[in-house]
This record gives sequence, structure tokens and C-alpha cells, in this order.
Amino acid sequence: MTPWGRLLQPDLAIHGSILEFTPELIAQHHLKGLILDVDETLVPFKQSQPLDEVRQWLQQIQSLATVVLVSNNLSHSRISRIAETLGVPFYTGAGKPSRRKLRQAVALMELPHHEIAMVGDRLFTDVLGGNRLGLFTVLVEPMADPMATGSLNSPKQCLRNAEIWLSKRLGVVLAAGERR
Ligand SMILES: [Mg+2]
Repeated sequence: MTPWGRLLQPDLAIHGSILEFTPELIAQHHLKGLILDVDETLVPFKQSQPLDEVRQWLQQIQSLATVVLVSNNLSHSRISRIAETLGVPFYTGAGKPSRRKLRQAVALMELPHHEIAMVGDRLFTDVLGGNRLGLFTVLVEPMADPMATGSLNSPKQCLRNAEIWLSKRLGVVLAAGERR
């Protein structure tokens, strides 16, 4: 694999949304801390709050792992509202794949890097940033927006698909996370 491919290769590609990242998988990989991306990973871009299913998922997860949100979104009000609802610490304007705020989240958790997963929907921000820091990286599919009218070809979706296409050219394998 190319050096870039190695940096973009998630340790785990989930076939589905973050809700499919189950307590069993977290235990299986000996993870004690989760750094979660927010937009499209936990909350669809056009929604302001997480779905009930996501809140329930997080509650379940928190008995196993410490959770911190790290978002590239510059909107402090959006991300703080979501973090408050979920009751977890958060960082905004992270500029992933920059490691700066990821390092702060890691410091907050006081766990070894291999026990922390960076979980997100994007290869060139979430996975790349997590791999640069030596974290366990998990790629999920974007959270479906219940209000969306069925089109999967939003600009964000196209960008994500382009990232996946390019990553595969660089040798990345997403066997378990192939989009239909
Ligand atoms: Mg995202």
C-alpha cells in the first residue's frame, strides 16, 4: 500500500451508521475512549439535534467508554447544543486532519492512544487525523436525515464518494463498509 493509503486506511469500516458501531465491537477492540465526529456522523447536517436512537446508543456506549466530540464545524452554538444534549465534552473548529484538538481530547481522556477510537464519516478528515495520531480509526456511513427527500447526491455526499474512490486508488480497503 502507498504511504498515503496507509494513512487513510481505517482500522474498521462500518457497513451502516454509527448505530452499527455496537458495544460488542467496542469491547472486541478493547476500546475505552471514543472521539466522535459530529456532522453527518452523529447528527445529519440539516438537523440541529441527535435522533432518539443516537441518544440511546450513546447512553449504552458510555458504560463502556469515555466520549468526547471533536468537530470541524466552526459553529460553537450548534456543537455545544448537541454536546449539552448528550452530556459530553466537545471541541469545535478542530480542522481535522489537524492533530491539535484531537490531542486535547486524548489528554482529557487520560488513556493510551491504542485504546481510543476516532469515529467519523470522512476519510480525509476523521480517519486521516486519527491515523496521524496513532488512534484506532473507524469509518461510518453518514447518518441518514429523516427529512431528506431521497437524493443521495448532495455536494457532501459527492465529496465523500470522491474521497472513497481516491482512497481505493491509493490502496485503501473498505471491505466491510462498501456503499451500495
Ligand atoms: Mg462529519
